[in-house]
Amino acid sequence: MPVPVSQMWTVASYVLRQKLKGKKRYPLVLMLEPLFRCNLACAGCGKIQYPPHILKKNMTPEECFHAAKECGAPMVAIPGGEPLMHPQIHEIVEGLVARKKYVYLCTNALLLEEKLPLFKPSKYFTFSVHVDGERDHHDFSVCREGGFDIALQGIRAALARGFRVTTNTTLFDGTDPNSVRAFFDQMMDVGVESMMLAPGYSYDKAPDQQHFLGRARIRRLFKAILSNRKSSWRFNQSPLYLEFLMGKRHYQCTPWGMPTYNIFGWQKPCYLLQDGYTDTFAELMSATQWEQYGTESGNPRCANCMMHCGYEPSAVNETFGSLGGFLSTVRASLFTRYRDRDAERLLTEPVRPVHSHNPFVTIDVKQPAGQAQQV
Ligand code: SF4
Ligand code: SF4
Repeated sequence: MPVPVSQMWTVASYVLRQKLKGKKRYPLVLMLEPLFRCNLACAGCGKIQYPPHILKKNMTPEECFHAAKECGAPMVAIPGGEPLMHPQIHEIVEGLVARKKYVYLCTNALLLEEKLPLFKPSKYFTFSVHVDGERDHHDFSVCREGGFDIALQGIRAALARGFRVTTNTTLFDGTDPNSVRAFFDQMMDVGVESMMLAPGYSYDKAPDQQHFLGRARIRRLFKAILSNRKSSWRFNQSPLYLEFLMGKRHYQCTPWGMPTYNIFGWQKPCYLLQDGYTDTFAELMSATQWEQYGTESGNPRCANCMMHCGYEPSAVNETFGSLGGFLSTVRASLFTRYRDRDAERLLTEPVRPVHSHNPFVTIDVKQPAGQAQQV
């Protein structure tokens, strides 16, 4: 079972309540960014390029609880930066769990083993560990040799203490689909509850601008990876969103589905873009020109986006918005492995991995930003 039944029921009943109230726009997951500092400097990251006085800031637990209350979403994802570097992160998690929010703390796991004693296992709380693939691929992606082994050690330690653990994986151009499939086997063998996938988004601020995928290439890659699926693989995502990534469905963006709150306020319009901030959640919902966003809007920054923060809520909305959507979800969850001969052929095509045409860059976090060393 990818997620506990109680969590599925909480989300399903929440969505149905919003629909019965006639709400056209409602949040599903609060993206809470309590800090922007990180102990890694991944080449595809668009979150850590702030001046030092911003990187030093931490949101208080009270600010986090207030945001969760204002927003009202049943789930809270805590990305960053690296949340485990926040001195009060355990208080933030504890307070959100006490409010019966399903909390996903996204971490690169460098500090996970060390910080585990600060947390208590709960059905409401999951460590979502950032692992971008098999050892070499992950180390390359996060610009840190040995990063994969540390993450795996943290995952094992968290599982041994009874925590819920999932993985989150971002895929860029040049990804070898066979390697990703082998990575799925590895994570299932390690015992993680389930896995989450996303195509990388081309943040303006990310140091590596060459390896973000366009929509056609995203569909091709995900078709190769997710067709002919093994029954042992478990995903912590809407099955219809995965079908969207595989090119089997079309959705319009739902940017309000995963609203973002951070030290600047409520971010317009979504987790990826920064078109201003509002002080309140109500203002975010009423003041944002939503029609200016999404692939259909013609906004060039949305043209290639298929990210879960915009499109997974669209898939969830379909699941609970019609009998057809619900039946498709049941079918996708239980009865299909997506047999596809063309996708099998894609697995035999040669891949030119990112590593072969880019130097490995090790970021020394003790050095001032911008002094990365190529090896
Ligand atoms: S782990 Fe990497 S992607 Fe995540 S916040 Fe840190 S630098 Fe960015
Ligand atoms: S398409 Fe992507 S970038 Fe544009 S609003 Fe939606 S989630 Fe944000």
